[in-house]
Amino acid sequence: MQPILDSLLEYLALSPTSAHTGSRSAEMLEKEGFSRLEPGDPWKTAPGGRYYTMYSPATLAAFIVGKRPPAESGFRITGAHTDAPGLFLKSEPYSYKEGLGTLGIEVYGGPLLNTWFDRDLGLAGKAVGSDGTVALYSIKEPILRILSPAIHLNRDVNRKGFKANPETEIHPVFSTVDEYPALRSLVAEAAGMKAGKMAFFSGELVSLEKPVLAGINREFLVASRIDDIASCHAALHALFRVRSPESTAVVVLFDNEEVGSRTTAGAAGPFLETLLERLSGGREEYFRAVARSFMVSADCAHAVHPDWADKHSSQSRPRLNGGPAVKRSAMQNYATGIETGAYFFRCAERAGVTLQEFTGRTDAQAGSTIGPITATRTGIPTVDVGNPMLAMHSIRETSGALDHEKMILCMVEHMA
Ligand code: ZN
Repeated sequence: MQPILDSLLEYLALSPTSAHTGSRSAEMLEKEGFSRLEPGDPWKTAPGGRYYTMYSPATLAAFIVGKRPPAESGFRITGAHTDAPGLFLKSEPYSYKEGLGTLGIEVYGGPLLNTWFDRDLGLAGKAVGSDGTVALYSIKEPILRILSPAIHLNRDVNRKGFKANPETEIHPVFSTVDEYPALRSLVAEAAGMKAGKMAFFSGELVSLEKPVLAGINREFLVASRIDDIASCHAALHALFRVRSPESTAVVVLFDNEEVGSRTTAGAAGPFLETLLERLSGGREEYFRAVARSFMVSADCAHAVHPDWADKHSSQSRPRLNGGPAVKRSAMQNYATGIETGAYFFRCAERAGVTLQEFTGRTDAQAGSTIGPITATRTGIPTVDVGNPMLAMHSIRETSGALDHEKMILCMVEHMA
């Protein structure tokens, strides 16, 4: 159990941004003997061959070519997303006020904003050189802080709750001196560029707290970005355990789920469809393959919070370490149908894993994920699943450490 969790803790620690997750995934794939295919080159693949391709720094797919052609046996696809909610620097972020160097931020997706205050924060992103070269960087020092107002300035906070306007009340500070160029130099240095040669940079705020196993039996997995990095890790490791499958096994990891997936690198973009058509060998073969394919879309589910138990459905009550949950919604926020749900239950049965079920409260609006989007685009029958977690979209999320291996075992049964 421990080696797979050590590998997950390391993957989480090396994933401060979705692009870093993409880059770390590529490293893992290379180590496992997957060959890189460039989108602009002609592809030659052979049955049993292991390949991967990067659509963007944060959107990629890895696959093992099946013994039978896709037109005859379809694809077995597992999907997840590489991005997480967070705070991004504005394009001209700097102002010096009240003796502090401060930065303006934009909110990406739906983070729990209050959890970002008074943390040790680093910065990670991309730097673009004046010659157009792009480099990822990650500053792992506590250079930024978002400061709470003292209790004396906000006397009702514990009764009325903490509110902060992200435009006017969330400005990370980095210095008492007016020295923005020094911050730019730090970024350039971390990106391996000379400060004068860096034309632009993007920055995402990063929690520096290490991912850990917590609880008296170390049964909690605690980290930033567990949603949905843990599913990306599970999908890749499931693929690593697949040997020579009948049907082509595909893992696809998308960016931009947290902002609705409607981007070129998101699940609503062209990547999956064009990849599958390419692997099918033509349009007619693609249509035949789609009719025989199946997709598992993995994204974290809500476990029942003990202090907010009434906020959950009174029937389905996922708990940590109770196994992966199959997610269902009459409003089709999840792609799961009765047949596709049953398919995943059969995978779990073969793997010896007990599953749970998730439906939201009938009187509340549910979340969604990539499954309904890829299913709508491609027509491939899809089941939405996810390991239960608490504190979803907090800067520090909590899930069940034992559920990770169970998810991998089910995914192996799906793709092998
Ligand atoms: Zn998610």
